[in-house]
Amino acid sequence: MKRRIITIVIFASVLILTTVCHAASIVELSPHVSICQNSTNGVFIKKDGRALVVYGDPGRNLKKADMVFFTHNRRDVVWSGRELVDNGADSIVPAKEADSFSNAEDFWTSFIKARFHDSHQQTTKVPIKPLRVGRKVGEGDTINWQDLEVKVLDTPGYTRGAVSYFINVDDIKYGFVGDIIFGDGQLFDLYSLQDAVDDAKIGGYHGYAGRLGELIKSLRKVSNREPDILVPARGPVIRNPKAAIERLIETLQAAYKNYLSINAGHWYFKDNYEVLAARVLEPDDKVDWAPYAETIRKKPPDWIVPIHNSRLVLSEDGAGFLIDCGSRAIIDEIIKLRDSGKLTKLEGLFITHYHDDHTNEVNALLRRFKCPVYACQDSKDIFENPGAYRLPCLTSQGVPNLIVVPDGHKMRWKEFNLTFYYFPGQTLYHDALLVEKDDGEKIFFIGDSFTPSGIDDYCLQNRNLLHKGMGYFYCLAHLQKMRPDYLLINQHVVEPFRYSQEQIRHMIAKLQKRKRILSKLFPWDEPNYGIDERWARIYPYGQKIRPGQNVEITVIIFNHSSSSHIFTVSPNVPKEFRLKPEKASISIQPRKEGEARFEIVIPNDISEEVYVITSDIKFDKWDLRHWSEAILEVSP
Ligand SMILES: [Zn+2]
Repeated sequence: MKRRIITIVIFASVLILTTVCHAASIVELSPHVSICQNSTNGVFIKKDGRALVVYGDPGRNLKKADMVFFTHNRRDVVWSGRELVDNGADSIVPAKEADSFSNAEDFWTSFIKARFHDSHQQTTKVPIKPLRVGRKVGEGDTINWQDLEVKVLDTPGYTRGAVSYFINVDDIKYGFVGDIIFGDGQLFDLYSLQDAVDDAKIGGYHGYAGRLGELIKSLRKVSNREPDILVPARGPVIRNPKAAIERLIETLQAAYKNYLSINAGHWYFKDNYEVLAARVLEPDDKVDWAPYAETIRKKPPDWIVPIHNSRLVLSEDGAGFLIDCGSRAIIDEIIKLRDSGKLTKLEGLFITHYHDDHTNEVNALLRRFKCPVYACQDSKDIFENPGAYRLPCLTSQGVPNLIVVPDGHKMRWKEFNLTFYYFPGQTLYHDALLVEKDDGEKIFFIGDSFTPSGIDDYCLQNRNLLHKGMGYFYCLAHLQKMRPDYLLINQHVVEPFRYSQEQIRHMIAKLQKRKRILSKLFPWDEPNYGIDERWARIYPYGQKIRPGQNVEITVIIFNHSSSSHIFTVSPNVPKEFRLKPEKASISIQPRKEGEARFEIVIPNDISEEVYVITSDIKFDKWDLRHWSEAILEVSP
């Protein structure tokens, strides 16, 4: 079935009216160059009554332009140039991203399926409707307009194929560099940089800020051209480019060095982590790798059977309690154990977290071995309705009929005491199980949260929050409080291990320092906005609907700030849909979630389609905006 993506109004008009760039707020940078600043920047170069535009016209000041220059393909930036292109302006786009400009629908059509089992972890802030591509440009190209020359540099980093433009006007060397820098040495976010790093053999899922190496190279290239003024796609105009770029590179290097030093991947990828470091740090700069966990045992006690990334707890009477079930091979092994008589009966299953390699075959297992499935409260919904989320490595297989237990719930099973815990390590939706055997042995099954080299936060889409008492701060405080007679088991690591108190304190101190570095890096009033793409999200992310059926969507916002904020939410729906209400404002307490509900009235006479609803979220104070989206799949 060929699906068509319906194009929609990208920007909520209600919102534009409240933040419109009035003629008076257009600021002249030099006699021929002016700028309109909104949630994005729009630059107008005017000569003889004609206009060349960079990025777009966020205040809808112009009726026409000769050309619009786009540096990269992000829907939260490209929206501002679309109308001018629709009105006849020639669009200049980076050649390496040209396809994604012209075939925007392809992404969303395939994303209906590709959003499950997604380990590439690219941001989804890409356009929803195509933009007519005029000229495709790359490194070394020159575009002439009037008596001006526009030079093109490839400047990948924030996106894979971005370019920058350089123009001499009014005896000033201008550089237009997209999102590779925000104002005076900052960056809009870090999650957009998640990517595979081929020369270090690191895949997209493990590639925390994987394009940092490219970004830093791009920044240096820009600096070497010695521009007088840089105008990024967002944020203040930069009047001392060299100093701003140096400051940004320094902050990025400090953040990355801090990240690498206590990262779980150093255990898995060993020397490849040196390759990662060398791409970003100065040649004489070294990472102070945290020593591996003080206690590492060769193998778990005999009552624990490692089966790929599952663990089977075996009672003396042969009954088993399984932790996680993500692959067919695990079920095959369980069958073998039963056939050999080593396992008499499977009496329970606990799922540590929602990732597909821990959940994919749970239903298949239950068809063979009927047993209760235990889950903690925080994970209930994502286990049952994975399709309602946009997160890494989702399974498409919801698990029904869970036995949901509260945090800290205790249960006696055979000769073991089991305690179930919320444990937001590798992801925000993650749990752990403490198993204490009557003979005194204690194993804490912590899912994927730690390895002997540190914390598992290499996928920026996993929502590893850096708030006091949340995320890894929460998990480390939990370990700190435990009596040191336990061993940790990570589902992917055979060797049980335990950190010393000093090692735990070291990780906490590193994370506190990271938070300070990231506060400097991002323009937001709180650094978590820059590492948590899902701070504002639409729930459910995906849903199937029928023509004529009305649906409800909820925009859920986590206020990361330390003060209350009012958030204005404007969903954008196709024009044949109706939206009730059209806009909502919600006040949310610090570090709390709030939500706005909308009903979408869907007409009877639409055909089978894929619709993407975007939601534009604005703060009360700033022009920093966040865009989320949801997918509606319509079928009769
Ligand atoms: Zn995982």
